[in-house]
Amino acid sequence: MARRNSNSKRKLLIASLFIIILMAFIYNSKIFEREPPQILSDEVIYWNLKKPLSIKISDASGIKRVLIQLGDGENNITLFNEKHNSDEKELEFNITFPKKGFYNRQNEYRLSYEVVDHSFWNFFMGNKIIKESVIIADRQDPLIHVAANSYKITKGGAGVVIFKTEDANLKETYVQTAFGKKFKAVPFGKEGYYISLVVWPRAQKNFGGAEIVAIDLAGNMAHEKIKYYFQDKNYKSSKIQLTNTFLDGSITSLARDIANDETQGMSSLEKFVFINNVLRKESLEAIEKVSDSMDYTQYFALKPFYPLKNSAVVAGYGDFRIYEYNKEKVSESYHLGLDLASTAEAEIVSSNRGKVVFAGENGIYGKMLVIYHGLGIYSLYAHCSKLLVQEGDEVMAGQTIAKTGKTGFAFGDHLHFGIVIHGIEVRPEEWMDEKWMRDNLFEVINSANDLINSENNSAKW
Ligand SMILES: [Zn+2]
Repeated sequence: MARRNSNSKRKLLIASLFIIILMAFIYNSKIFEREPPQILSDEVIYWNLKKPLSIKISDASGIKRVLIQLGDGENNITLFNEKHNSDEKELEFNITFPKKGFYNRQNEYRLSYEVVDHSFWNFFMGNKIIKESVIIADRQDPLIHVAANSYKITKGGAGVVIFKTEDANLKETYVQTAFGKKFKAVPFGKEGYYISLVVWPRAQKNFGGAEIVAIDLAGNMAHEKIKYYFQDKNYKSSKIQLTNTFLDGSITSLARDIANDETQGMSSLEKFVFINNVLRKESLEAIEKVSDSMDYTQYFALKPFYPLKNSAVVAGYGDFRIYEYNKEKVSESYHLGLDLASTAEAEIVSSNRGKVVFAGENGIYGKMLVIYHGLGIYSLYAHCSKLLVQEGDEVMAGQTIAKTGKTGFAFGDHLHFGIVIHGIEVRPEEWMDEKWMRDNLFEVINSANDLINSENNSAKW
């Protein structure tokens, strides 16, 4: 009796062990996976009903059945009802809007998905997912109206444009130039209005044109040309002969100061080329990084810049310099600021209030300050001997901010003064000229404001 009892106990133990192992196998096996299929689609989809909508479905055990339907609240139209093999683990469905089947034009539809996988889970029925997306139908292209723009843009200089973009589901609006640069636009006063500063970079031979672009969430797009007059300008071009005295003296010590490690083992001519090409590019990139903001405040005011009292211009903006050694061209560069000189270590003044966004060393620019004044306009002060403000400081109009010097790629005490817009150094002369600023900026802003006000008044009546 006792022996029999222990025998059946053992059988029971083996049987239950077997069941536990089998269950563990089923539980961990791929063919019994318990994850429902994944549907890559947003809860709300903006659709212009023209471009096919792409929906991606995936599953580890393969997709068995897909049902996709579109409904308008009354009717449901089946777009896909398909069976698939277990090796189809990823499927893409391109949904086109049905030409027939809906009686009325709606602004909202519902896209529903029912997908089952090849898993043996759920008593061989597989895992099922039911999901729905709300479709917002948007058939309208955005509308763009130019409210006002500066009459011209000069090579190296800037212009402004104020425009209205209307769309129920606007995604983005900006200015696009023919040479491939996008200029940010930011809200201007009244809702729907935007302002942007547009720049013709000095090194860009032709401007080619600019247009306002608006894109909505459904992918509808609109373009509107800005009627600028593009004024070409002849800048000074000069050839500079590099002498051994200069290369072995000034350049060698400059390389030691600002690029000691990188220029080890180079000849003094190679050091010059490295400074003028590689370091210049790095310095310009550092400037671009800190000066790409854009905003608009209703009470924006800006006075002409006059950074250095009783100074003389020693080099102009936009000068093109070709460097030669033994009559052979070795390097070239554009001079992108205005060089002003007075006495050594002269006081530099910020003519406008602003916020210091950079204060420190910047390669060939030496000790440098960059100050943001609003509306995407930055002023830049380079080769300083001493900086009197720090990053993050607010400066007042008329405040002394630095002292001139010859740090960086400079061989005499002077100020390299720059104006930077959208990361690009532009003609400072424009921002030092009251008449230019009035004609090209303030009057454009005023005429846009007049238009907005007349719109407001007519709306009241
Ligand atoms: Zn300069």
